[in-house]
Amino acid sequence: MTKRNRNTGMTLGLCLCTRCRKMNSKSQSHCLRCDSPLHTRDDTSLQKSWALLITAAILLVPANIYPISMITNQGKVTYDTIFSGIAHLVHTDMIPIAIILFVASILVPVMKIVGLTIYLIAISFELPISKKYLMAGFHIIEWIGRWSMLDLFVISITVALVNMGQLLDVKPAPAATAFALVILLTQMAAHVLDTRLLWDRLEVKNDGN
Ligand SMILES: [Zn+2]
Repeated sequence: MTKRNRNTGMTLGLCLCTRCRKMNSKSQSHCLRCDSPLHTRDDTSLQKSWALLITAAILLVPANIYPISMITNQGKVTYDTIFSGIAHLVHTDMIPIAIILFVASILVPVMKIVGLTIYLIAISFELPISKKYLMAGFHIIEWIGRWSMLDLFVISITVALVNMGQLLDVKPAPAATAFALVILLTQMAAHVLDTRLLWDRLEVKNDGN
């Protein structure tokens, strides 16, 4: 392996503005371009990210246990949880929609929470996880980010289907609020984290991997 140049912005006396991406001098307290406060590393971002992530993980329980939708069909009311909704679609041979619902409602939120947990643990506890796995976790979260809109896609499909029937009415049930919060909180947990903390961890620890 070739010897890597270990110069970082911090060693060169530079500090990146996280808002407008301008490179400032470390001696500056505020960005010269947009006047936001400058920090070489935001250590409080770890606490914020953990708090948001744990809340999201807890909310995943009511999101899956309580009904997510209330369907009124010719006067008969039925409640569906995420899982029973998917089972219904499988039984009525709507496999593609069942797959979309499974990916958007179960796979994406769970993978995002697991991925974020892996790299928060790596930063907080400096566990001997190899660089290869850490980067894999990071790429999974990045890749999943672009699929977060899938939930909105599922909602729009449901609305379109329901509008076709005159005697059919669908309303969100309590789990819908919990589920929306899970999505929002995982997005925020990824957003508030100062990823430079992870880069430091990768540079200093197990550099030989
Ligand atoms: Zn700036």
